[in-house]
Amino acid sequence: MRVDADQRRFARWAVSAGVAWLALFALLTAFSQGSEALARFVANVVYVVPLALLVPLSYLAARRSRGRLRTAWWLLALSNALWLAGELVWSTYAYARPGGPPTPSVADVAYLASYAVALPGIVIGFGGTWAERQVRCLLDSALVTIGVGAVGWTLVVGPLLPGTTKAAAVVTFAQPLFAVAIVTALVVVGLCGHRTVPASFLLAGAGFAVAGLTDAGYAYLFMIHSYGDASWLNLGWQLEAVLLCLAAAVAARRTEPEPEVRGLDRDLAVLPAAVAVLSIAGIALADRITHGQLSRSTLVIAALLVSGLLLRQLLVTRDRTRLAAALAVALREQERLAVTDGLTGLYNRRFFQEMLRLDADRAERDGQPVSIVIVDLDRFKKINDTCGHPAGDRVLVEAADRIRHAVRPADLVARYGGEEFVCLLPGAGEDTALEVAERVRRALSRTPVTLPGGREVRLTASLGVASAGTRGGRPRGDLEGLIHDADGALYRAKARGRDRVVAAGRLADLALDTDPDLPPALVWLADQIDAKLGNHEHSTAVSRWALLTGERLGLRQSDLRRTAAAARLHDIGKINVDDAILTKPGRLGEAEWEVLRRHPQEGARLLTELSDRADLAPLVGAHHERYDGTGYPARLRGDAIPVEARIIAVCDSWAAMRADRAYAAALTEDQARQQIERGRGTQFDPEVADAFLALVDEGAIDELAPLRHPEPATHA
Ligand code: GH3
Ligand code: MG
Ligand code: MG
Repeated sequence: MRVDADQRRFARWAVSAGVAWLALFALLTAFSQGSEALARFVANVVYVVPLALLVPLSYLAARRSRGRLRTAWWLLALSNALWLAGELVWSTYAYARPGGPPTPSVADVAYLASYAVALPGIVIGFGGTWAERQVRCLLDSALVTIGVGAVGWTLVVGPLLPGTTKAAAVVTFAQPLFAVAIVTALVVVGLCGHRTVPASFLLAGAGFAVAGLTDAGYAYLFMIHSYGDASWLNLGWQLEAVLLCLAAAVAARRTEPEPEVRGLDRDLAVLPAAVAVLSIAGIALADRITHGQLSRSTLVIAALLVSGLLLRQLLVTRDRTRLAAALAVALREQERLAVTDGLTGLYNRRFFQEMLRLDADRAERDGQPVSIVIVDLDRFKKINDTCGHPAGDRVLVEAADRIRHAVRPADLVARYGGEEFVCLLPGAGEDTALEVAERVRRALSRTPVTLPGGREVRLTASLGVASAGTRGGRPRGDLEGLIHDADGALYRAKARGRDRVVAAGRLADLALDTDPDLPPALVWLADQIDAKLGNHEHSTAVSRWALLTGERLGLRQSDLRRTAAAARLHDIGKINVDDAILTKPGRLGEAEWEVLRRHPQEGARLLTELSDRADLAPLVGAHHERYDGTGYPARLRGDAIPVEARIIAVCDSWAAMRADRAYAAALTEDQARQQIERGRGTQFDPEVADAFLALVDEGAIDELAPLRHPEPATHA
């Protein structure tokens, strides 16, 4: 704000000073009409004042500037110094030689040199980084200059030539042409090739434009021998000097930002082309009027202009080709960035959703399943909190890498959110997806992540799996449902203690009696037994809890499924036990016990003989074995009892204790817990008992529900 106000105040002051000087000079010029001495003083002494100021100012501007502008200003400073030198020579002649300086003189050499140095200043300052653009700029300048020069020479200088020497005419006429070249260059590379041009160069450009007009006027007056010290033309050069002083002051006061190059510059092809065509037409016409035919010089100039135009077209094409190639590269990079996550280099969420849609369509066509796995790093906030956010980022990158390597080659991994990833598994049903998810889980937790300082961070993740197009899974088109399922499974994985895989499949969500893998007749049988034993569910609860306990113990998904199924059917052998025994309120006699103790084997037999689930038979058969080897029927001990049966044993006991039975009232949760603890290591596998009690503590073991279909037990 303050800088801007400062800048404005300075600009106002500088412009006022310039205008005041010009007014003074105009006044002096007016007074000196008729007085040769005053005119000589004004034109040769007063005249030099702004030039003497210009040289140190442009030196300061060069020192203040940066980059390409600095080079440009050094050349402009040199140019201004040469101009001053020329003027001093001129003034010396004016006082020392009657009739003033000869033409051409050393002063003219300095003037031409001054212009010749300014031109590359502009080209270097604004040619951008491409040599081709600089060459094209010079070519445009040359074309315009040759065109204007040819017309000027043919129409003005040529006819007046008999009055002076050719050398004098050339030197005088070359100066306005140089100015034309400089202004053209600034327009072509500066204004058309950049988004903005620094104020100092706009002012300098205006100065050169004024110089061109003034020099042209001078050339004409020189040719008709009517230039004198009292000429108003001097005011034009003074204006040039004032404009250049302002330019230098602006650049010296504040470092101007380097102008931003336009990738695609505005190509002013029409300027050189129009000048070339018009000037060829002009001189051709003049030829016809004066000689009745085209002169050789006209043909040469025309050939020069046309080949110049062709060459510049070639350069433009090359420039555009280079640009097109650069754009193609940029576009490809842009496309890559649009689908990638910046931190991990994985695909981003949007791309995943797009691919999921495509894959679901393809799966629909081919009748294939498709699965997704959502991976959420466990307690990631803590990693950030203890090691810092950058370390957290490192862990994310490493996690991304591990996941990428754990999935199958055709799977797609994307970053789904902050510390969430998602894998798209085309063609994978739930079992395959579970295997992949398990591989991912192990890859993440197997070894800690080593941070740059050598510090190690333990990493685990929870994973939710969901499938579409599988039995019991979502239809393939229901993508939102699929993601919702995976999210739900992930949530359950977190709730059940993290560092695990949970599938959204039917086992967890659906009531087990609709599990299509269970023989309906045996499920019916299980319901009948449950109804006989009381008004509360039994086998459904045992199955549910057995699943949770198995998950807590880290059982594989297929084993979990078997555990839940066996739990649901564990008591079906009781169908062969007399109801009187099952519902007897008092203690059983030895014979009655004998009958009851047969139910595990009976259940196993039913499974083997009446269903295709013989795989469940050993589990059902062993659910009354005890860990210490004193159970029945086979007195198996410890690990010899299938783990599924050890799990069912704990859950079965809990369900029995928590319900009112014919022979006993329900125990409270605390009492039941004590019983489990008491049996830990004797009746129950201690690990299973601990896992189960942990679930009790977490509130994961729910109450027994009343039976949904309380069919009265048929007392035969
Ligand atoms: P949990 O999932 O086990 O329930 O716990 P959490 O701590 O991982 O859960 P939550 O989703 O609440 O926290 C996620 C954290 O991940 C919060 C956020 O600070 C961090 N996070 C998200 N994006 C980035 C990231 O790009 N870099 C880093 N370093 N941290 C991130
Ligand atoms: Mg999260
Ligand atoms: Mg998390």
